[in-house]
Order: sequence, then C-alpha cells, then structure tokens
Amino acid sequence: MVVLFVDKPRFFDTTLRDGEQTPGVTLTPEQKFEIACALSDIGVHVIEAGSAAASEGELTAIRLISDAGLGTECCTYVRALPYDIDLAADAGADSVHLVVPVSDLHIIEKMRKTREQVYTMAMSAVEYAKERGLVVELSGEDASRADQTFLNHLFTDGVAHGADRLCFCDTVGILTPEKTAEYVPPLTRIAPLSIHCHNDLGFALANTITALKSGASCAHTTVNGLGERAGNTPFEEVVMSLEVLYEKPTGIKMEKIYALSTLVSRHTGIDLAANKAIVGSMAFTHESGIHAHGVLRNARTYEPVPPEMVGRTRRIVLGKHSGSASVEASLTELGYTVTSEQLAGILSRVKKLGEEGKRVTDADLMAIADTVLLLVCAPVISMRQFSVVSGNRSIPTASVTMVVNGVEKTGAATGNGPVDAVIKALQDLVSDVADIRLEDFHVDAITGGADALVDVTVKLRKGGKVITSRGARTDIITASVEAVISGMNLLMREENEKRG
Ligand code: MN
Repeated sequence: MVVLFVDKPRFFDTTLRDGEQTPGVTLTPEQKFEIACALSDIGVHVIEAGSAAASEGELTAIRLISDAGLGTECCTYVRALPYDIDLAADAGADSVHLVVPVSDLHIIEKMRKTREQVYTMAMSAVEYAKERGLVVELSGEDASRADQTFLNHLFTDGVAHGADRLCFCDTVGILTPEKTAEYVPPLTRIAPLSIHCHNDLGFALANTITALKSGASCAHTTVNGLGERAGNTPFEEVVMSLEVLYEKPTGIKMEKIYALSTLVSRHTGIDLAANKAIVGSMAFTHESGIHAHGVLRNARTYEPVPPEMVGRTRRIVLGKHSGSASVEASLTELGYTVTSEQLAGILSRVKKLGEEGKRVTDADLMAIADTVLLLVCAPVISMRQFSVVSGNRSIPTASVTMVVNGVEKTGAATGNGPVDAVIKALQDLVSDVADIRLEDFHVDAITGGADALVDVTVKLRKGGKVITSRGARTDIITASVEAVISGMNLLMREENEKRG
C-alpha cells in the first residue's frame, strides 16, 4: 500500500548543523540561539542545534537552546559513540540524530570497518542513548548507495533496540524521484521515517516531496537551502510546494518565511542567488512591460505564489522594458499624481536610463518625476561632515555632523565595520524625527580593480513605507552615506508634503 502523504508532514530543521557546515560559515552561540527562536516561532518540529562533540561553542549553543524551553524538540548530531551521546545528554538535548554510515563505500573506505562492526556499534549506541533518556532518530548515512537489504535489517533491529524514528540520508544528492519512490515505502513500515536530501543535482526538493508522498513523515531541511556543497533541501521550497501545489497544510507560519531567510543569510553571510525560489531578491520582481502590465491587472497572471503569503512585497522594477502602466503604478505608490503628458515625459527618461543599463530605483524615479513636475524641494537632511576610524586594534567608530530640518546635529556610533558604524550614526541622528530602519544593503562593483566604482543600494523602511535608493562612488563608505541620506530624504519628505 502506498501512503499518499502523512496527515501533517513534520519539519526537522538542520540549518544550525548541516547548514552550518557550509564552507566559511560559523555561527556564534548567540546567533544560533536567535535563529533557533525564529525556527521555533515559525513552527518547525525539531531543531538540530549542532553536534555537541564538535567544539565548546557548539556545546554552549546546544545548552542555550535546550535551556530556553522553546517548546520545540532540541536535537543534536551524534556518532555511534558513548562519548558523543554523553555530551548530548549532558547538554540537555531532547533527542539525538544518531548517524551511522550504511553504504559499503562509507563503511569500508571511510570507517575501515565491516558491516558487522558498524551494525554492532549502531545497536549499542541506540541502547545507550535510550538509557540516557534521549529520543533516538537512527540515521543511515549515504543510504541511497547502500545495500537496501542491509539498511532494512539495520533499521529493523535498531527499532527493536529502542530507536524511535529513522532517517534516510541522500548524503551526496544522487537520488532521483523514481529511486526515492522505490526505496522509501519499505522503510516507513518499520518506524516513522525522515528524508534528508542534498541538492547536488538540483533534485533535493523533488526527492523530498516524493519521499513525503511515499510515506515518509518528516523532511530534513535548511533555511535558504544552506549546507555543504550545493546545500540541503530548502525549507521554504518544501513548505510552499506542499501548501500551494499539493494543498497540504503544514502548520508553518508562512508569512514569517522571508524574515527567517533574511535572518539566516545575515548571520551566515551567505548571499542568495537573486533568482533563488521564494526568497531570492528577484523572486517577486517584475520588469518587462507586458508582464508588469499583466501583474498590475491580476497578479496571478505571472505569480504562482502571492508575495504576501511569504511575508514579501511585489516589486515592479523600471527599465527599458517598462511601459506606462508600470511607471504610473510606481508613481502612484510614491504619492505622485501625473497627467498623461507628464507621464509620457517621465517614461521616456526612465527608458533612457534603462537603455544605459541602469536599474531605476525609487530615488531615481522620484528625481525624474520632480524634474518633470518642476517640484524641486530642499532636502530635509544634508551632510556637513563625517569621519570614520577603523583598524585592526580599534572598534569601528563614526562621527557625523548633519543638518536635520534646519538644525545642526552631531553624533557618533560604533559598529561591526566602518559602513555599519556610519549608518548607525545617521540613524541615531534622525531617530527623534523619524524611525528609519535599514532593511537591505547591497554592494556592486561596477568595474573591476581597486579603483572600481562602487554602487551601493539600500532599502530603508519607515513604518509601512519601504523605498530603495542608491549611491555610486569610488569609496564604499561615501557611497553608503549617499545612498542612506538620499533614501532618508525621500522617506522624510513624503510625510511633510503633498505632491503634484
Ligand atoms: Mn547532510
């Protein structure tokens, strides 16, 4: 009998363990804790917090998370060794992800052991973990290349020795949906089965969904698909596929997906591909004139998932493909009312910028509109001077003097880098006038070399209003200041004036 989906698929999140194994990623215990809170809040069922045996920092993070009483199962990765299991139990974990190599390649080449030795280690580790009061998820590493008869035997006896759940690991991402549909069903008859996939050939999502459709009850996922090499199955893609394509409620608070994705990419420093499904910067952005026109009439024409569903907003980017409908919609959103003659004038300037290869930001559009409408306003904020101190023995510190609504103000702030420090100082200086938050910061080098022009794009929020603006200079700090000040001016002018 083929089971078509369990009632409610579970999510075992491994962002903090497999995701953290992404080359170059190290999370502090505090960062792990912050991500764990967000994971618990969004509704995942298990958080794999790390591997207790890996380092002192890992152990601290696991303790922080298990002590917090988040109400979400706190799991740690262990090898089939009493040492690992003791550390997990002492750190207060609820469960262990007990990983045992099961393919001959891993057993013989990596471990220099025999199937019998691995089998014996696995059984005594399961028994020991149960003695220590832990929930045990017994996991077969490289299961997709294992002798499936041996795997079935190991899993069956593992459950007889006390394992609560099982996990099939496609460690190197070589499963296909067809093989998944073949391998998974017999194992789900032994005990509840998790599926752990990697995305080396881009099949992680398809294999994970196939496993869930074949009777697996839990998906191992990472936020943004982080993980070694090409990464693990992306959490956001599984959730949205189940909800939108298979109409399977997950219980996950989908509207928090984008905030979680942003938190993880900020802490890990791993930027997403612009076209990454669901969470990439362009996933809900439209430029082409005809598409934008369709989306404005009925968003479903070119959007399979409404952006609000995952906590995002639709963006219409203007460029050479833009038509009058999308330019007019952007102008309306920015508070302008224009005649058709004015609109034609603005559109031709937008297209000209687009043809020069420029992205037309809100700030550019407002500058164009102000010129066309002859609305030239004095800026609310202007810079008098700023300086930044940064070095290997000092905390980056910025001091800034600027004029806000005609009043000269001076302030200083520290940050984790010179750009961060100067942006914080700017925010502090306007904070009694307006609460402006930096949502996104993006840098492009326009040409190569050390003297490259640096193009900084910032996204600023004031209440419900979000705008993007840009600064382009050879100096990254000056470019950042320029982008932030022009954005702040737009946000603050908005409230003081009624437009055209
Ligand atoms: Mn893995």
